[in-house]
Amino acid sequence: MTDDTQQPDPDASTARDAPDVVVVGGGVAGLSAAVFTARHGLETTVLDSGESILRRNAHLENFPGFPAGVNGRHLLDLLGEQAAEAGCEQVTATVASVGTTDGGLVVHTDTGDRYRAAYVVAATKNAVGYLEDVDGVGIIDRGKAFVDTDERGRTGVDGLYAAGRLAEKPHQAAVCAGHGAEVGVTILEDDDRPFYHDWVTPEGYFTDRGRDLPPGCEEVDEAERADREARSLDVMRERFAEPHPDDQVTHPSLGED
Ligand SMILES: Cc1cc2nc3c(=O)[nH]c(=O)nc-3n(C[C@H](O)[C@H](O)[C@H](O)COP(=O)(O)OP(=O)(O)OC[C@H]3O[C@@H](n4cnc5c(N)ncnc54)[C@H](O)[C@@H]3O)c2cc1C
Repeated sequence: MTDDTQQPDPDASTARDAPDVVVVGGGVAGLSAAVFTARHGLETTVLDSGESILRRNAHLENFPGFPAGVNGRHLLDLLGEQAAEAGCEQVTATVASVGTTDGGLVVHTDTGDRYRAAYVVAATKNAVGYLEDVDGVGIIDRGKAFVDTDERGRTGVDGLYAAGRLAEKPHQAAVCAGHGAEVGVTILEDDDRPFYHDWVTPEGYFTDRGRDLPPGCEEVDEAERADREARSLDVMRERFAEPHPDDQVTHPSLGED
């Protein structure tokens, strides 16, 4: 177990708000995990250094729901918007280390900020340097580094999870996004949150059958449903009105002069 007091120069670091969940890595896995924890009311902060490998994709043609494919950078932007809509804070930062304390986990950034959290999701593809001093985390070296987890993303350390490619999931955006979502739901279960399915259903779907509305479910009437659909059409029309402004990122070795 890494003692927080052994972190480099802890007194010089700045304590940020204490969210319930800190997600390290804002690629598809991390942002998907954040959407699920934030939607269910856990205060969630995503720390991301801005280099999702999906930014290198030329055109994403195997992500469910996009029959003609989608620009991968567009998808990441939309996922970030969805996390923000769910109430999640997103911070550009590089995480330098994670420590364990009696009161939970503490995440240190390379600029000296620190975040205490009950739950940390590591979703940094093959970057593991910030986890190397945490006793109980199994690092698997197969040429690239991965984190050893159980089938739901739990590591050997209470409160610390790994998601997406880092958790040895196959190297496709949809698989990593799905695993991120699963890890988010696992945290809700481990936190004993009253959770059902995070469903939005037509009015009366449960209650007209004499059932209480299950926790985490919402029934909406036709007017509300139509409003939400109209808003989603407006948002998607606007977001997809123009090609994405960013250039495709290539492999770092090809970018060198
Ligand atoms: C050229 C190319 C094309 C591809 N095309 C496809 C395709 O067509 N279809 C498909 O399904 N998949 C494709 N992929 C694969 C897909 O992009 C990955 O499988 C997916 O992005 C993995 O998701 P992830 O969230 O696990 O990792 P990433 O999306 O890489 O996210 C990891 C995040 O962690 C952040 N991070 C790392 N270290 C730190 C740190 N210390 N502190 C804070 N943040 C940190 C990074 O900035 C990054 O944003 C392609 C990949 C490449 C390279």
